[in-house]
Amino acid sequence: MRVTVVGSGYVGTTLAACLADAGHDVTAVDIDPDVVAALNEGRAAIHEPGLDALLERHVGGRLRATTSYDGLPDTDVTFLAIGTPSNADGSIDLDGLLAAAETTGEALSELGPDDRHLVVVKSTITPPGVADVRDAVAAGAGSAADRVDFATNPEFLREGSAVDDFRNPDKVVFGTDSDWATERLEALYAPLIGAGDGDDPVPIVRTDPETAMMIKYANNAFLAAKISLANDLGNACKAFGLDAYEVMDAVGLDDRIGERFLRSGVGWGGSCFPKDVDALRAAARSAGYEPPLLDATVAVNDRQPERLLALLDDHVDVAGERVAVLGLAFKPGTDDTRNSRAIPVIEGLLERGATVVGYDPVATATMRDRFPDVEYADSAAAALTGAVGALVVTDWDEFAALDDAFDAMADPVVVDGRRIVDRREGITYEGLTW
Ligand code: NAD
Repeated sequence: MRVTVVGSGYVGTTLAACLADAGHDVTAVDIDPDVVAALNEGRAAIHEPGLDALLERHVGGRLRATTSYDGLPDTDVTFLAIGTPSNADGSIDLDGLLAAAETTGEALSELGPDDRHLVVVKSTITPPGVADVRDAVAAGAGSAADRVDFATNPEFLREGSAVDDFRNPDKVVFGTDSDWATERLEALYAPLIGAGDGDDPVPIVRTDPETAMMIKYANNAFLAAKISLANDLGNACKAFGLDAYEVMDAVGLDDRIGERFLRSGVGWGGSCFPKDVDALRAAARSAGYEPPLLDATVAVNDRQPERLLALLDDHVDVAGERVAVLGLAFKPGTDDTRNSRAIPVIEGLLERGATVVGYDPVATATMRDRFPDVEYADSAAAALTGAVGALVVTDWDEFAALDDAFDAMADPVVVDGRRIVDRREGITYEGLTW
């Protein structure tokens, strides 16, 4: 099929590259000329394992990028993968997506009388926002609107393993207004979900566009709540002098609970959980429902960075001293620092008058934009040199094996927010929930 993907960020670039790899003919559209230029050189503007290899293989063949929407009517399907950030009150900011939806509609107003086109929203939008996006596409398309079908197809990939996740999903959700749209999506995905690792076919959920998006929000809310509950229980374990990991390893053996997302620590961040849980809370409130458990999910998460700092305070006064922050990305495998727990940790250290030295294998540049005055080291060992304390914020594998690097600190105090550090002898080591 001929596919347009509007928006070439984490989701759009992964989608475009994987669709091309599955045999479709793909045009990626982005308003940012630098993003488009990078794609046409065969590399992604973002860091995502495996993505550049796919781009190198297909750019110049089945995949190309442009800033122009003009080619849309010559394709069969257009995906919208535009960011949907939070407003200050936590509600979803649809402005960027609505602008792209309207421009998409305007381009499709050129559809021929016998053409039919499917617009699919990949971005995450609250159920009440779906109608706004559907209307924006129709308004742009004008008299061609009756030849434009609308669907939502929420994305469940995780940054850091986006390509793998996209190709091996636990489920695929089609939210459509017509059987024709469902069939188009089935045809589009057929070569992809046939490529899964297991023998079992990937479950396809067929529903309406609003329910499809609620599935996405419920999914993320459940995962965030699971981690926050693990953190709440973990904080209690620490207060009792117990190891939360020993407890949760056993809890996870119950197959009604499952072993994943029970790792307690400094909390969840990134571009999805915080914004999606906030958007769901705000949308629920607007619709007249107060969601107490979702509120608590966020409250527990917000407190974890301060708990990490308080453990450091127990051992050392950081005012005027160097403190190393190990890990700036919101999780390993990505350069994304949006809502990273490193942000409140750095803010807390600066409030205490510390000199912060940050280190991350890939995310230094993005954090430097936010904290230009913080010092950034080229290696964990360099960050630790002369520091009175180290806070481990991201579980990059390399932090497991710092070993001798801690000896670069006069009197090493290490507070681990991710239970990643192996060496615990000969240093003062504190685990956040163990
Ligand atoms: P992103 O910010 O990385 O990328 C968005 C891209 O859209 C940018 O390259 C930007 O230049 C481009 N853009 C903005 N306005 C445009 C316009 N009018 N026309 C063309 N291009 C435009 O966003 P992302 O992380 O890929 O997220 C996209 C959506 O997918 C969001 O709704 C997000 O919630 C959802 N989602 C993200 C993830 C994730 O892990 N990042 C996972 C699942 C779902």
